Amino acid sequence: METDGQILGYVKHETGGANNRKAELTDQFACRLCGSTSCRRRLDGWNRELIECSECSLIFVPRRYHLGADKERRRYALHNNSMHDAGYLKYLRGFRRELLAVPISKPSVLDFGSGRECVLTRLLRDEGLWAHAYDPLYDIGKDALQRRYDLVVMCEVIEHLRNLRDELALVRRCCVDGGYVVIRTETYTDVTDFGSWWYAADPTHINFFHPKTMSVVAQFLQMKIRGGNRRNIFVLG
Ligand SMILES: [Zn+2]
Repeated sequence: METDGQILGYVKHETGGANNRKAELTDQFACRLCGSTSCRRRLDGWNRELIECSECSLIFVPRRYHLGADKERRRYALHNNSMHDAGYLKYLRGFRRELLAVPISKPSVLDFGSGRECVLTRLLRDEGLWAHAYDPLYDIGKDALQRRYDLVVMCEVIEHLRNLRDELALVRRCCVDGGYVVIRTETYTDVTDFGSWWYAADPTHINFFHPKTMSVVAQFLQMKIRGGNRRNIFVLG
């Protein structure tokens, strides 16, 4: 388990040396989620390579194309993810309704990868929920990992995770037994053209999930898919 702030994570494998070259090769040929080596390369039309896993259908971007943390933060700063952006608030309020539908009364919530402004955390607190934010990219909420939550939320986060299995293991540890994990990410389908798909155009997006990939994520978390629209919202429990 790599624990040194790798969640939206970075750096460790990008500084050269024999071990790092090995990590790079591993990254290219083994699936970041299921570990299968049955992967094939494809092009995405955005000057990046993609690796597609034939076992779990995760499509992921090799490490050498990942942005450094500074570039990543600059890219996020272009998004209007603040309390002052009406469109973003509307979007999050819709998502909040999905979270409140989880069959636990007044769940404690961890907003995993909250972003700098922790907008979802604040909206959930406005509902009277006990909610905590965590985002190592902005050095937010390391202490929040000291306890466990009824509900762990990853809203537009999982597509950014570099050490996917480690981060999912952390999510699992932060969730109580009988709790829920809600994941929001756009999934691709068999007819998605990555060359024109807006989601693939974002250089900070490095993992792309088919709806069936989410079953593997659920399995990894020792959960099942319980709800959500199963297109861009998945409720696991
Ligand atoms: Zn896989």
